[in-house]
Amino acid sequence: MDPEDLWRPAGAATPPEVAAALLHLASAQPHPVLVVSRPADDVHGRVPREAPRVRWANAAAAELLAVAADALPELALTRLLRPAAGALGDHLRRERHTRFAATATTSSGEARACELVAWPVPAAPALPGAPATPGAPGALGALGAPAEECWVLQGALPGDARADAALRAAEERFATLARSSPVATIVSDVGARLSHVNDAFAALTGRSAAELHGTGWLDCVVEEERAAVVEAVTHVLAGRPVTLDTRLRTATGQVRWVHVRFAPSRTPGYGAGFIATVEDVTDRLAREHRLAYQAQHDLLTGLPNRLALLEHLAGLLPAAEGSRPPGAEHPAPRAGVLMVDLDDFKTVNDGLGPEAGDAVLVEVARRLAATVRAGDLVTRPGGDEFVVVCHDLPDADAVAAAARRVLDTVSAPVEVNGLRLDVVASVGVVLLGGPSGTPDELLRDAGIATHEAKAAGGGRWALLDDEVRRRARRALRLVADLREALARGAVDVHYQPIVRPGPVAEVLSVEALCRWRHPELGPVDPGTFVPLAERAGLVPALDAHVLAVACRDLAGWRAAERSGELPRAPRWVAVNVSAVTLSAEGFADSVRRTAAGAGVQLSDLCLEVTETALASDLRACREVLEELRRDGARVAVDDFGTGYSSLAYLKDLPVDHLKVDRSFVRDLDARPRPRPGAVPGARPGDQRGGPARAVAAAVVSLARTLGLGVVAEGVETPEQDAVLAELGCEAVQGYLYSRPLEPAALLALLRSGGRIERPAAVPAPRTVTA
Ligand code: C2E
Ligand code: CA
Ligand code: CA
Repeated sequence: MDPEDLWRPAGAATPPEVAAALLHLASAQPHPVLVVSRPADDVHGRVPREAPRVRWANAAAAELLAVAADALPELALTRLLRPAAGALGDHLRRERHTRFAATATTSSGEARACELVAWPVPAAPALPGAPATPGAPGALGALGAPAEECWVLQGALPGDARADAALRAAEERFATLARSSPVATIVSDVGARLSHVNDAFAALTGRSAAELHGTGWLDCVVEEERAAVVEAVTHVLAGRPVTLDTRLRTATGQVRWVHVRFAPSRTPGYGAGFIATVEDVTDRLAREHRLAYQAQHDLLTGLPNRLALLEHLAGLLPAAEGSRPPGAEHPAPRAGVLMVDLDDFKTVNDGLGPEAGDAVLVEVARRLAATVRAGDLVTRPGGDEFVVVCHDLPDADAVAAAARRVLDTVSAPVEVNGLRLDVVASVGVVLLGGPSGTPDELLRDAGIATHEAKAAGGGRWALLDDEVRRRARRALRLVADLREALARGAVDVHYQPIVRPGPVAEVLSVEALCRWRHPELGPVDPGTFVPLAERAGLVPALDAHVLAVACRDLAGWRAAERSGELPRAPRWVAVNVSAVTLSAEGFADSVRRTAAGAGVQLSDLCLEVTETALASDLRACREVLEELRRDGARVAVDDFGTGYSSLAYLKDLPVDHLKVDRSFVRDLDARPRPRPGAVPGARPGDQRGGPARAVAAAVVSLARTLGLGVVAEGVETPEQDAVLAELGCEAVQGYLYSRPLEPAALLALLRSGGRIERPAAVPAPRTVTA
């Protein structure tokens, strides 16, 4: 039985005779036994100043201290014993169960070395018949006052064979197990005092075993952690295993995070101790923190990422709901999600390299973070997209102000490698508390609003209102229906003649243009559904369909030409190829296969590619186009003049024709606008067309220099046609000569010799097209 258990009453029925017997047993012990008391810590945890006092002593103790047994009670313990280290009171308070060396001072002043085991007397119900002193300590209730703690000090005289044997056995076990273990291990035989530490622990703390023995190890614990460690020790001494994360300070001042597993242990004759393993988890925690950081942040800009944004929004959503009391007249201040999308960022990235793109993103991130109000969150969920979450946008003015501020901040030039790049952004805004119920829906809706701002020309902001939502829903429906129509092959192809201009124009070739008649909405404009198809990833399928139909139709015209049914077939068919289509894996092969399948040559085809498509992924585009051109295909740059990088790239591009964009052709018959400050009235040298004519003239002469053909698009009036003829443009396409025609109408035109008389004005449409 443990000494401590002696003081535990064996149930409420312990009779007074048993208590008397126990008292007798203690009196007759050959070892010195002292019961001492010390005032308990007050309610604030303050440590009392008074020294512990002797309450009771047995004969052996009286003999050790050479003081008459009845003179011992009430003597301050410090007069009798001097522990090797620390004040005795603190010692007991801190260690609870402890074995310590002390010097006993006899009444004659002689010093005697002794070793003591101390343990506290647990509180317990008073024995029947004992005076009912509330809070009195257990079996010896009469000995203690309520505000005091009682301890038993039992002498373990050197040479106590039982204790020594136990100790040696424990020591040997530990030594074998732990000495060379790589796991830092500490052992206490009793109380918080360490009797053993292994090399790994000494190495971890950078201190010698001697420094760590006893309570020295507690000095390694970082001060703020010490209370928790002492508490953990109290628990393990009470017999419960404890694990704890804490910090140690090494001899060199480094702080290490450690994971400590305390297991209780008991040495017979001593009382409660523990064994603990101490694992250095600093690096693991650092790694975990790093991973946790990386999981939540964008590494380029350091801003929170999409995951962090979604979590933040999830946190806001219920709050936004709750902030609107039912029936409240004015909605409470709302939070808003502002999605910032950089316009034309891809051009920067592809044109100047990813480093330049990164520099722009970092600068935009910096500016946004510097602009928002405290409490607002700036995140980068991905790509060239930033999302700012603004709290407290009570009304439309506040929303507009926030959006304006974000736009203005972003829309300032960024300098990269000495180049000034204009940054333009589009901002889409959604307010929390609307129909977007989840964080994902909020972001999707913010994306719709951003797209709306972009579609309206970019450099502006748009709030997702009902109108925008309606358009977005319509777009979704169109995409779904177009997907279905493509699967059924229900998309038609019309052909617009490209002619050699003149009073009687001759059809040179035709451009294939897709036409879609929606079962309910009627004809849908390609200007509407082609961009939708591009975003929905449908455009490669659309282009492949148009190419297949065009090849098939051309093969038919060629056959008719051979049989003499047609005087002449178009020399080639031009098909439009979107950037996505061009960069899709296996595009060149699929063109070859389609042409071969229909029985036409690649030289029967002209691929129309926009400047933007060419600029977006120049190298990949060039390789594909070069490959197809080697096999005979023609390549035209569509909408020429609307991109801005064309001139620089043009000389290296594998192209055959330039198609002058119709915006330049449109202005050819406009009178020059007077410049501000210029004297009104025509001046010598002013020509019809003004700047547009200059551009068209430049394009024609550029093409000639580079040995390229020119097609002017969108020719609608005889005036435009006249200017183009003057400039020497050998091919035109436009309503003046012909609108895009259904295959049957084109066939009729070709049958009649492919000649079109130039009308005096724009003809009305012959067939209703989208
Ligand atoms: P685009 O390639 O520039 O095609 C020429 C567009 O100009 C056609 O519009 C044509 O009808 C129109 N056009 C021709 N002459 C005149 C004129 O005198 N005045 C005016 N105002 N317009 C004229 P459409 O058919 O609506 O096509 C619009 C755009 O949709 C095309 O522009 C092209 O970018 C795209 N597209 C059409 N079909 C396809 C296709 O099969 N695949 C791809 N990827 N895009 C296509
Ligand atoms: Ca075209
Ligand atoms: Ca065009």
